[in-house]
Amino acid sequence: MSSPESPAPEGGEYRVPGKTRFLFVTGGVISSLGKGIASASLGRLLKSQGYSVTFLKFDPYLNVDPGTMSPYQHGEVFVTHDGAETDLDVGHYERFTGSAFSARSNVTSGQIYETVIERERRGGYLGATVQVIPHVTEEIKRRLARVAEDGADVVIAEIGGTVGDIEGQPFLEAARQFRLEVGAVRVCFLHLTLVPMVNTAGEYKTKPTQHSVRDLRAIGIQPDVLLCRAPEALSSEVKTKIGLHTSVPKDAVFTAVDAASVYEVPLNLAAEGVDRRVLDHFRLESRDRDLGEWRRLVERLRSGVREVRIGVVGKYVGLQDSYKSLGEALTHGGVAHDARVDIRWIEAESLEGGDLSQLDGCDGILVPGGFGSRGTEGMAAAAGRARIGRVPFLGICYGFQWAVVEFARSECGLAGASTEELAPEAEHRLFALLRNLDGDEALGGTMRVGAETCILKPDSLAARTYGGTTIRERHRHRYEFERKYEELVESRGMRFSGHTEDGYFEVAEIPDHPWFLAVQFHPEFQSNPLRPHPLFRDFIGAALRGRDGGGEPDAPAASAASAGNGAAAPARA
Ligand code: GLN
Repeated sequence: MSSPESPAPEGGEYRVPGKTRFLFVTGGVISSLGKGIASASLGRLLKSQGYSVTFLKFDPYLNVDPGTMSPYQHGEVFVTHDGAETDLDVGHYERFTGSAFSARSNVTSGQIYETVIERERRGGYLGATVQVIPHVTEEIKRRLARVAEDGADVVIAEIGGTVGDIEGQPFLEAARQFRLEVGAVRVCFLHLTLVPMVNTAGEYKTKPTQHSVRDLRAIGIQPDVLLCRAPEALSSEVKTKIGLHTSVPKDAVFTAVDAASVYEVPLNLAAEGVDRRVLDHFRLESRDRDLGEWRRLVERLRSGVREVRIGVVGKYVGLQDSYKSLGEALTHGGVAHDARVDIRWIEAESLEGGDLSQLDGCDGILVPGGFGSRGTEGMAAAAGRARIGRVPFLGICYGFQWAVVEFARSECGLAGASTEELAPEAEHRLFALLRNLDGDEALGGTMRVGAETCILKPDSLAARTYGGTTIRERHRHRYEFERKYEELVESRGMRFSGHTEDGYFEVAEIPDHPWFLAVQFHPEFQSNPLRPHPLFRDFIGAALRGRDGGGEPDAPAASAASAGNGAAAPARA
């Protein structure tokens, strides 16, 4: 395709594979309606019919990626296997489809403008006045084409924010142009809105939906499908009214009913037939959906009778979106044992006065990733409590670092041990800035990110848990263990049982403990509801054994039996 205004300039063209369809998902009325979950669920439904699906999340903010944003601003930063720091919706896409996506699946305004401005500086626009239309929109369309290069049948492109946001306008405008250029059959617009129940009137109110579709139409986009979030299924009358006001055929107005678990959403949308309507639009045939495994998952989630309590000691617990993948991975670990995981979110800072009573009654303790100084003594205290109290423990990234520091302080006579991140002047800095870190003074893009191979020692808890010795896991950190402390730490009973080929320390465990594992990487990014990650599966298993036995969990077992679905297989990138 080429745009008539820019016949020759660099990057002025994009080409999309002939067969690929594009489903744009927009949102209106308010944010947090679940666009990401709806997109991911539709991906699952299309995949369940044998269509290949890929995703693109457009984030309208000006940051180049969310890597520099506080989790309180943005929620979790999801890391892809190829090392992109992306929006947490990419995590939903992976968990719901069981596929791994790449850097191409998340594009921000910051990236678009960065590319356009760099090109302008190189003289790539041949003297043209560089404008939002056509140059910024061209770049957006190019990103759509790029994600389609792998030849997926359907690209699901979710536009962040809500219709009417100033930042989102270039994306909507690009989508409008894209439909004109690629053709109406191959581009479908699905709009997610809210239909609130107003209790005083006892009625569902359609006005907000009408207004939000009006906003969309003002930009030139007529939605093909409406998905209306509501507490219960909307009646035919309400759907008729919405259809009349929005020019959407009544049979393309669907309810996205509130669900007890996000994993129920694909089944709810299937019952409504949203996927079939989208396929009709694309002139693709609707096939039988293979949702058996997914249905069993939802049944297991509903019927989980046992309960296990996990204390998560972190510094961003005030916003659970900060630990999105972690919370999901714990849930998956529970599913493997038909257990409901009750997560007690504990502010790490609140443990610093020495009162650890919030950890009482926790069957397992988890210290997740984090940055900076706040709460770190609380993380160390939590690791110490798990170690001495023989409570199953999983440390992730910063949680790995503080578990090792706590051990060194308490067991190796290194009272002042710390990490360089926190105490550059400390006598014993067990963790130092990574070698080989490319990057300079800038904060963005200076971490070790993405998947790398790690080799586990054969007779370790880690290897038993994974059921193998070669694993690939994703990273996001700046500091690494200082090998000069290895001998001392190991001589006192902590074992380093996993290393990368170039010698980074990746895993620590305490053999003389019921279940104590800490890892420098982020296993939560690869956990899947149908394939719970082995570390979470066995961590929950150990916590359950401790609880049921009324005493210690027994020696680690490769307790894959109840996990099913090939959960014993080593995680892959
Ligand atoms: N702050 C630590 C580091 O940069 C750990 C990072 C993390 O937990 N993601 O190495």
